[in-house]
This record gives sequence, C-alpha cells and structure tokens, in this order.
Amino acid sequence: MAVINILSPHVADMIAAGEVVERPGSVVKELLENAIDAGAHNITLELKGGGATYIRVTDDGCGMAPDDAGNCFLRHATSKLRDERGLEAIATMGFRGEALAAIAAVSRIELLTRRAEDEAGTYVSVSGGDIMDMHPAGCPRGTTFTVRDVFFNTPARLKFMKSDRAEGSWCMQQAARVALGRPDISIRCIKDGKEEFFTPGDGRAESAVYALLGRPVALSMLPAEGENEGVSVTGFVSSPAAGRGSRAMQFFFVNGRAIRSQSLQAAVEQAYKNTLMVGKFPACVLYITMSPGAVDVNVHPTKNEVKFSSEKRVFDAVYYAALNAVQGEKPTLQMDLSRSTEKKLAPQSYGRTVETPGQTAMELHSPRVRYGAPRTAPRTGVSPIPHRQPVQPVRPRPSKAEVQARQVDITEKTAPAESAPVRVAGEILRTYILAEQGDKVLVIDKHAAHERMIFDRLKAQDRQIMSQTLLQPQTWRPGPEGMELLSANGELLNELGFELEPYGDEDVIVRAVPEDLDPGQLAAALEEICEKLRGGGRDLARDSVLQTVACKAAIKAGWDTDPAELLALAEKVASGEIRYCPHGRPVSVTLTKKELDRQFGRIK
Ligand code: ADP
Ligand code: MG
Repeated sequence: MAVINILSPHVADMIAAGEVVERPGSVVKELLENAIDAGAHNITLELKGGGATYIRVTDDGCGMAPDDAGNCFLRHATSKLRDERGLEAIATMGFRGEALAAIAAVSRIELLTRRAEDEAGTYVSVSGGDIMDMHPAGCPRGTTFTVRDVFFNTPARLKFMKSDRAEGSWCMQQAARVALGRPDISIRCIKDGKEEFFTPGDGRAESAVYALLGRPVALSMLPAEGENEGVSVTGFVSSPAAGRGSRAMQFFFVNGRAIRSQSLQAAVEQAYKNTLMVGKFPACVLYITMSPGAVDVNVHPTKNEVKFSSEKRVFDAVYYAALNAVQGEKPTLQMDLSRSTEKKLAPQSYGRTVETPGQTAMELHSPRVRYGAPRTAPRTGVSPIPHRQPVQPVRPRPSKAEVQARQVDITEKTAPAESAPVRVAGEILRTYILAEQGDKVLVIDKHAAHERMIFDRLKAQDRQIMSQTLLQPQTWRPGPEGMELLSANGELLNELGFELEPYGDEDVIVRAVPEDLDPGQLAAALEEICEKLRGGGRDLARDSVLQTVACKAAIKAGWDTDPAELLALAEKVASGEIRYCPHGRPVSVTLTKKELDRQFGRIK
C-alpha cells in the first residue's frame, strides 16, 4: 500500500505559508518589501488591532499589468528572478515568488493595482488561495493590498497568536525595521487610526533613526563609518554611556535588507570592550553595503538570515566602524582654555537647540554641539570663570528628613580606580565639585553626577523598582491625553514603582512612587513622564521614566551637600564609572596640569 502522497498544491501552499507567514507581522514585512521592490517612494501601512483582522499597504510603485495581478498569487510567481543565475546576485527584497501565495493561502486579500501606462487598473479578490473575483477598476497608479482575517482557515495557527497588543506591536517592529533600512523611502504607519510613525524618505539615515527610534536614542548616537575590502559600513552606534538593557536596539541592514546576525552583534559589542557597563548593550543602526554576489540571502524563507562569502571581512568592517566611533568620542569635554577652543565653543554654537527647523537630532552630534551647552563656558585666560547667572539657592536648605531621603549614597562602592586617588578640594558655586587626581583637575557637576549614579542603580534593578507608599496619597490631574497614556502604560509604571489609579473621570490618585523620588516632585515628574510616554516604545519609555526619576531624585545645584557626599561623587567620576548624565551630557570637565601651566606661561 502506498503511504506517500503527493500534496496538492493548495496544501503545499498552506505549509509554505507556515514558513513565510509566521504571524501577522510577517504579512506586514512581505507587503512592505514588495512595495519597495516595486520602486515606491511613498508607502502607507494601515493596521487594525494585532493585524490579523486588517492590514493594508498602499504604494506608489510600478503597479501590475492585469494578467500579473491575477498571477502574483501563484506560487513561484515572481517578476524578480528568471533563472538560477539571478539567484547569485539578488538585489531585490523578494525573489522567491512565495510570499503572496503563502499569504493568500491563509487569508482574504483584495488587490487594486495600476501601472502608469494603463488606463484602467485591476481589482482582484482572493480567499484562502482561490481567486473569487477579478475585474478592471479605476484606481491611482501603484498598488494597494488589503489583507483580512489572517489564519482564518488554519485554526491551529490562530490559536497560537498572542494578544492583539503583542501582535500589533510585533507588526510595528517589522514595519519600523523595514523603514529604518530604507531612509530613501517615505513610510507612514497608521495603527487603529493613529499615526505611529512617519519617515520623511529624505535619504538621510539620521531622519529615519530619529523618526523610528525616538529622540533619546537618536541623541545618544555617534556616527560610525568604515570600509574593508569592498564592504562599506555607515550608520550609528550609541555612546558608551547610553548602554541599553537589551539588544533590542541593534539593527543591521545588508544592502537595505534587515538581517539578524550574532556575529555582527559580537563585532559591535567587541568595540565597546571596557567602556560599557556590565549587562549593558550598545544600540546601533548599521548599513552594510557590499556586492550582492558576496552575500547569500537564500538561507531562510523569511530572508532574515544571510550568509557572507567572507564572514571575517564583514565582521572587521563592522568592528572598526564601531570602534572608531566609540574611540573618537572624547571621554569628557576637555576644558582647554586656548584660543582655538574658545572659537570652537563660541557662544552662538551653544544656542543651537533641537527645535531649530530643518535640523534633526543627529546633526546635533557634530562634535561641537554634541553635549549641548557646556555648563561652564570657557572664555579667555584672563577671565576663566564664565559669566553665569548668580547662583540662587534653588530651594531652601532641605530638612534633615529630606536630606536623609535623598542624599548621595556614600556607601555605594566605587570600583577601585587604577590611577591616583581623588581629593576633593571643595565645592564652588554650590554646583560644581572641584577635585584633583594625579595631575588633573576635575570640575564635576554634582547634580549630573548624582543623577547618573541613581539612574545606574535603578537600571540595575532589572524589573521591579523599589517603591515607597505615600503616607498621604496624592491626586493629580493628567489631562485627557495624559490619562490615556498613564492607563495604557499602567503595567510599566507599576514596574517602575508607581501605584496609580483613576480617581473620578479626570484625576488619578497616586498611592506609591519610586523609592528615590521625592514626593514633593511628584507632579513635575508625572508631567514629564506623560510627555515621554507620548514618544515611543516600551524600552524607551522605561529608560526615560527612570531618567525622570533619577533627575528628580538627585541633589540639585544650589543645595548644601555634605563633604562625604561630594567625595563619593568625585570618586565615581574619577574612576570612570560615571561619565555622562543619563541625558548624555558630560558630568565633568578635566583640566590638566600641563594646560594650566601653559595658561600661566610656565611652559610653552
Ligand atoms: P517575490 O517578492 O519574491 O517576487 P511575492 O509573492 O512577494 O514574490 O510577489 C510576487 C510578485 O507580485 C512580485 O514578483 C511582483 O511582480 C508582484 N508584486 C507584488 N507586490 C507588488 C507591488 N506592491 N507592486 C507591484 N508588483 C507587486
Ligand atoms: Mg515579495
């Protein structure tokens, strides 16, 4: 008795679908890639819920002829590959002609498409792989695919789908990845009627990074560039101070295609050896360009994995690009009082802010303005103390209880410095710690340093942040949008030590706050947090909420600070453990003996 059956093409398609269409997010990815291959300049993705019920991708690409509009759903129907020679040098995103067949097999699709040269477009509707209807139709140039009811005929798969929220966010991640890979294409992404992101398609990677990864990540990025034997690398890697809790922000693109590669992750991470805190990972967005013949994308159906003909060549190109970026960054803003520096730091360059029209965050990373306004504006040698506002105590001396609640934790261990011990000479302007170490003078911003110290400690408590229950619960009015943001992020806020519940229609009642947060700062902190929640994904939100907590918890300029606390901070800074505040500004300025001697004419 024969036991081997030849599967019907229909069943074969359903099986292939399992490889290509793992989740609704795979549909998003394949449709976007097809639009890119069609030469689109503008793509719109619309999505409802988790994507299973509704995904629509509209492009202004080349469109399809009426015959092709019907044939594109057939397995191995592709306009991109004609014979096996083509397989060796694939320049398009798709090439197998499998995706549409696979998606069609497990969903209901409507297609509207028209080429520029055709008068009429074509409408096709497909359900479970069968064409239900097809006729000429008026439509704009380009293509719209509407995919509904993914997995409607494969109940087993349907069961494995996660919540709408999880699937929806996976769809977003797929879309963001595709968009990040192609800064030259404008992609708009709308989920449940709300715009999730929009990339301008101006061809500049920094625009895409800013639009997709948000301001905090964009601001932490350093430009990276490298070239090695025909492999060129451009893009960005994060400043060592902006290490992240996971590898979620590591993106690699090979010839525009998003790929995953442990070896390239290792290449980047190796460049941060000894500069990144333990348990931290760099963020990166790296575009690798090489001859299509030197990379095999035909390894996995989803084309996420690739094989390089020379793994080492690519590894080295990425490693050196990252290393140069990391090493090129100055560890602390060297305060050099010579004239040339004075020019470099001319006051007009401080004034540039992110809001400057037409300027994106990444541009602010030109070395001149990387750190924003230096806190001490170096002038000439005659008047080395900069003009600044007279220091007003920001608030009256805090009560003893308050001091205890927020003082610098002087018991926190500092890794023993390899170099000379630190001596605190004093505090100036109630803002800066003056310390000496070997032949260096450190001027430390005490608030920034303390903020970093708290931030690191909070980050190290990897999930649940210690919380303090308020003796007197407080109410706060977030405004309608704030209310929505707070309730949508309830779980995250909880993890971070907040206990909030709605109180009436317009207020929230706050029962607990992160242990570090001064309850007096609650309203200011919540306001800032809402602002940040508006801007991005969970990972981002978590970090930026922690930043707010750290900032509000840290000692402030103008406050009295105990000498032991000053020393604790100075040691952290001198050991190199703390270099930037969580916003990426330097916590200290270094002046060497040589520079001073030169300044006083002791040496030339
Ligand atoms: P592949 O992308 O591997 O060729 P697909 O199944 O994804 O296979 O697509 C099949 C074919 O349908 C493509 O080769 C292309 O000719 C056509 N096609 C798909 N999407 C579009 C689109 N948005 N615009 C124009 N043509 C498209
Ligand atoms: Mg395709």
